[in-house]
Amino acid sequence: MTRIRQQNVTAAQWSSNGEALGALDLTLPENDPFGANVFSVGVQRERLPADVFEKLQATLADGEALDPSLADAVAEAMKEWALENGATHFTHMFQPLTGSTAEKHDSFFDPGDEGTALAGFSGKELVQGEPDASSFPTGGVRATFEARGYTAWDPTSPAFILENPNGALLCIPTAFASWTGEALDAKIPLLRSMDALSRSAIKALRLLGDEDSKRVFTTVGAEQEYFLIDEQYFFERPDLISTGRTLFGAKPPKGHELDDHYFGSIPERILACMLEAELEMRKLGIPVKTRHNEVAPNQYEIAPVFENSNVGSDHQQLMMQVLESVARRYGLVCLLHEKPFAGVNGSGKHNNWSMGTDTGTNLLDPGDTPADNIHFLFFCAAVIQAVNKHQGLLRASVANIGQDHRLGANEAPPAIISIFLGGELEKVFEAISSGEGDPNTPASFLELGATVLPTLPMHGGDRNRTSPFAFTGNKFEFRALGSSMSLAFPNTVLNTIAAEMIDELAGKLEAKLSGGMGMPEAVIEIVKEAYEANKQVCFGGDNYSEEWHAEAEQRGLKNLRTTPDALPEVLTDQTVAAFEDYQVLSKRELESRYEVWIEQYAIRANIEAETTFSIAKTMILPAALRYLALIAESGVSSIEGEVRGLVDELVAALGELESANAYPDDLEGMDLAIYARDKQIAAMAQAREAADKLEKVVADDLWPLPKYEEMLFIK
Ligand code: ADP
Ligand code: MG
Repeated sequence: MTRIRQQNVTAAQWSSNGEALGALDLTLPENDPFGANVFSVGVQRERLPADVFEKLQATLADGEALDPSLADAVAEAMKEWALENGATHFTHMFQPLTGSTAEKHDSFFDPGDEGTALAGFSGKELVQGEPDASSFPTGGVRATFEARGYTAWDPTSPAFILENPNGALLCIPTAFASWTGEALDAKIPLLRSMDALSRSAIKALRLLGDEDSKRVFTTVGAEQEYFLIDEQYFFERPDLISTGRTLFGAKPPKGHELDDHYFGSIPERILACMLEAELEMRKLGIPVKTRHNEVAPNQYEIAPVFENSNVGSDHQQLMMQVLESVARRYGLVCLLHEKPFAGVNGSGKHNNWSMGTDTGTNLLDPGDTPADNIHFLFFCAAVIQAVNKHQGLLRASVANIGQDHRLGANEAPPAIISIFLGGELEKVFEAISSGEGDPNTPASFLELGATVLPTLPMHGGDRNRTSPFAFTGNKFEFRALGSSMSLAFPNTVLNTIAAEMIDELAGKLEAKLSGGMGMPEAVIEIVKEAYEANKQVCFGGDNYSEEWHAEAEQRGLKNLRTTPDALPEVLTDQTVAAFEDYQVLSKRELESRYEVWIEQYAIRANIEAETTFSIAKTMILPAALRYLALIAESGVSSIEGEVRGLVDELVAALGELESANAYPDDLEGMDLAIYARDKQIAAMAQAREAADKLEKVVADDLWPLPKYEEMLFIK
């Protein structure tokens, strides 16, 4: 079948999802769907016996383990609520080490005595599940012949109902562990890291004179980038289907040079899709807030209001799922891959991160008084020190094969981790360092300790879009995450390394205070030492520039370009020490993650390499040969040489790729990953180069794949 332009006309058609959702009177509370499908605190209050409700809330507030005696009552209320909402099944939803979300559905109904069915759901079923999940990669923590893993209810992340046109499903967020208690998922370490950070921060706050806070929560708000393309093109591209990215495709005549897409008006079909996706998200209690067109054509962004890290991370997974499923209702496919189109900006996820007390103070907010600012400087210095010490680990926390096409490709933060403090904050630290303020130091920092610091309002408006880790007024924005990633591990790392450094600075503070030093002076001295020892990681310039790469090398910062370069950071002594000291992950648990991630890299590289070979051999080469036949038939021999030359180039590249794909059996782990990177991915690039040149010369109606100008511009 040859391709004809006619298909583009079909792709551009759409109807507003059968019955349009319409616009309701939103001043009426019943028309606000927010949280309608969530077993929220409100629903719990209404449905649980008063004493059970109070005990449950108290447990959650203190972050303590659940009293098992509550489970039956909670399960009963949850079941009634789920059945009323049409849920026939329940599932313990969990996040295995692959970074995706896993679920196995169980019916509420069991056969009764007289041919009837009884709906049952016990506290035990709520609290603990035993999925036959022996196929999930565990990196050797749990051999398949050993006992299964089990799932455990996470009461801090609310249960919800997922709707389907033909029914509904009660989803219970859970952790996934082995029977020996080792974490087999992304949630357990995140929860442990939140506990660790809370313990360290509370200890420090006591020293700083805060007697009231009982718990510190870490928060996350992620800005998610994604592409939407017509599903017709998606299904015509075996590479998109199998790998999530295009393995071929010549640069279109029009790219994003005109900058006409960024913040442009959102096309009607896309907006309709977004509105429905957001409606679904709101029903699930996801506080979606902003949307806009991104830089690349057909690229968009959605961001929620921040939540505590655990809930925010669960909601992120759900957001990706909703985006993917709702897109299909509009004849679109949502691409979450980090680099779906070569030569076009890829997609990332900005991870806004902060820490706040249960009394409502954001510890990374400078605040209005010198006392607030003392706290802020202390925690900020701890973050700077943590990021500098663990820069390699942070880089590893955002490593995957898709990211290797993005980080450092002049569109995303580089693989070098550095911190952008912003002009104002940098002045404050510099003033503390030198002991004298300049006339532009913010007023709110006046009277800090012995230093005399002059005036300027502090605001978060100072931006450097090229920095991988930027202070943005009242939070840090870790901008290096890939669009397809779970938030869990990067935030686990942030929390753990921050906890470690808060403790280290608190130890110094304690020593100074007991040595008789006064409060602001002691903190100022610690902040000064921490800043001076770690300011090599602070950089305010253009992170995309060549000069920065050279300078970063001089400063001794790490530049871990690819996933195989970065992942060993997960197992360095200082990583293991931090994770073990704070009881976030044991060495064995870290090793299991390393093994799974390195294996995933090699598997995905191999899938890409095999897909490249098959498309080139069975689709592109035949198209080029047909075109050569056409040229021969036409008798215009002057154009034959160019095409023949490119065909020869493609055939030669395919020979190389074929031998790269037949990789030696004895390679595994890191060796295999490095082989995949250096042999397979390199050979793929050669094949692509020849094929993309052919795309520019072969007759359009013979070309078997939708082109970039179709996928990216037809909406
Ligand atoms: P940008 O200019 O990068 O778009 P915004 O101010 O719009 O920045 O915020 C982006 C994200 O930062 C939002 O998801 C928001 O919820 C989140 N955010 C704001 N405050 C915090 C905080 N204290 N902790 C974590 N995330 C936060
Ligand atoms: Mg941002």
